[in-house]
Amino acid sequence: MDGLELLYRGSLKSCNYGCSYCPFSRHRHSGQELSKDQERWEYFVRTVEERAEVLDIRSLLVTPYGEALIHPWYWEGLGRVSALAGIEAAGAQTNLSFQVRESLELFDRAGGDRGKLRLWATFHPEMVSAETFSGVCRQLLSEGVCLCAGGVGVPGNLEALLELRRRLPEEICLWINPMDGLGRPYTEEETKRFLEIDPYFLRELCEVPADPENCRGRLFVEGNGRLRICNISRRLPFSWDGLWERRRTAKDPEGSEDLSALSCGQKRCSCYLAHGGRRELMNRIIFGEHPVFRITRRPRAVFLDIMGTLLPQESAVDGQIPAVVRAGLTGLKREGALLFFATTLPYEKAMERCRQIRHLFSGGVFLGGAHVVLEGEAGGWEQVQGLEEGCLSVLEGLRARMRCRVLAYRRGKELCKVTLLRPGAASWNGQEIKEVSDCLLSQRITKVRVFSERNCLQVAAEHATKENGVRLLCRRLGIRPGEAVSAGDGEEDRGMPGLLWASMEK
Ligand code: SF4
Repeated sequence: MDGLELLYRGSLKSCNYGCSYCPFSRHRHSGQELSKDQERWEYFVRTVEERAEVLDIRSLLVTPYGEALIHPWYWEGLGRVSALAGIEAAGAQTNLSFQVRESLELFDRAGGDRGKLRLWATFHPEMVSAETFSGVCRQLLSEGVCLCAGGVGVPGNLEALLELRRRLPEEICLWINPMDGLGRPYTEEETKRFLEIDPYFLRELCEVPADPENCRGRLFVEGNGRLRICNISRRLPFSWDGLWERRRTAKDPEGSEDLSALSCGQKRCSCYLAHGGRRELMNRIIFGEHPVFRITRRPRAVFLDIMGTLLPQESAVDGQIPAVVRAGLTGLKREGALLFFATTLPYEKAMERCRQIRHLFSGGVFLGGAHVVLEGEAGGWEQVQGLEEGCLSVLEGLRARMRCRVLAYRRGKELCKVTLLRPGAASWNGQEIKEVSDCLLSQRITKVRVFSERNCLQVAAEHATKENGVRLLCRRLGIRPGEAVSAGDGEEDRGMPGLLWASMEK
């Protein structure tokens, strides 16, 4: 298990609000029900404290039915959990109706680390005005609390949601969940207006097929100790205490069991809490390492490898980019990020393969770093790092011995990259790579680098790397490396700033 991300839902089923669409609205809990929920939460917090290190728990989000943060014990518990060394983020879904100062004092007194506190705040326009809600958001921000805000996409609430967007500080993202039970698709106009509020709204309208591979390390813990992978997946055959026993009695000492494969049981991830917490690449680009909290990270630039990342490696011709990925890229763009390709493909081939999304991109790094392009709103500029012309004849001389084709890539007259291409999946071994390098050296061609990618041996200028190309674009645009995110799946992607490994959802 590579770090656990916990969701907790106790037995609480009561709320101080009375929204017309909610089954928990104004439900009165008995004193006994409330004590039971408190006991279960306190037991859970104690066990998290005991087990966090061994289970490698990284985060906790409380997702109650009803409102938990009006009860002081939830604040104390979150404070204690956030104080644990290995915990990176702890928080809860809330309607923000708690007393901010008093609640944060409880959190602080329990040793809480405000830097790790994350709130997922839902706006209920039937119960609170945009002015009041945004006021609480501002107060929390000024107290150093990180939060997102959002609401249900009820068409009749559009004006209230737009007003909330106007009133919220820019750094707080405002998301919109599609309305269950609307009974019809959103109209074009409604979609357009919700997109003005939430740049990622189109993602919410996409169907998300289940893919438990992306749910490794997630656990949904119920107050009675029952476990699932996410809130809608099948129940696991052991409890929260049972999991601990398995680890302690060495049935699974390394925690290597793939729980997600055991127990998804769904065809679709049909609610945000399920798919929003998946650790797939687009979620991590948009939200960072803990996407479940729904707080956007807002990179200024995003650099994406194509083959194996945006498109499957095996896609020989133009690939279809899944709708949910297109919607994610559109959202990043709407949020102000500049999108760039970072690929060993030549410019024309990259644009052809990604023609569905190329309009969203502002150029990129091509030919493995030999060709760097800025275009569109980012301006018109390009740089080429050429190879010595003699390189080509040396490599052509190796064609028969190495059983390969020799492809030369140029920008204008300048030779940028040479690819020695083998048929099928035949790869290159270290001895062959050395042989090609030695051959170039023997002809005094020294300012080159030779690297392999599956069945291709690539020869490019010494300093033409994806990393250098990405850093060059960042410098030109005045973007610090920490403000950029990159994604790739191969050795050539190493060194790109803010690199995330993995491929996009299919
Ligand atoms: S239903 Fe849940 S466990 Fe299954 S893939 Fe979706 S998020 Fe993962």
